[in-house]
Amino acid sequence: MDSDLLSHILQDLGLPENYGEKRRLHFCEEAKVLVKIGLNPYGKTIYLEPDTAKAWEKMKEAALKENIELLPLSGFRSIRTQAEIIRMKLESGRSLDDIMTANAPPGYSQHHTGRALDICTPGFIVPEKDFAQTPAFQWLTIHAQKFGFIMSYPVNNPEGFIYEPWHWYFVPSDRIV
Ligand SMILES: [Zn+2]
Repeated sequence: MDSDLLSHILQDLGLPENYGEKRRLHFCEEAKVLVKIGLNPYGKTIYLEPDTAKAWEKMKEAALKENIELLPLSGFRSIRTQAEIIRMKLESGRSLDDIMTANAPPGYSQHHTGRALDICTPGFIVPEKDFAQTPAFQWLTIHAQKFGFIMSYPVNNPEGFIYEPWHWYFVPSDRIV
């Protein structure tokens, strides 16, 4: 996306155009190639970039062998969709500062890359911190890294986001099994 358009999208939400740099967030390019990985529990089709999709399939299968069912909740999200989500929250009356602790500004969400995946499990299909109490999360903390997934936003993360135990980011490495 060109930087003028991104500046316009940020300003339209009431964010300064240098908001990302000021908060030391990393700009995230939108994925160019995406594949479907299936539906989330709400019936929405989820997309990831191809290498992430492969790693997710392997991880999901490995978990299932140990009776842990991992489900996708959210995958690729465009810069424009990110702006729409923030816009809807503003319209529902939440303050921009509050929203910015839970949502990255447009252009700075790992979901733009197609390499980020919000994960849930049957019986817990919302992105809330109590996901950390589920056996699915316990399994992920032990095994996800072997498949290339890291939890981006632990407690007190330097980016200033809330604790997001459901949010995992695929970092290609030779440790992928
Ligand atoms: Zn996420």
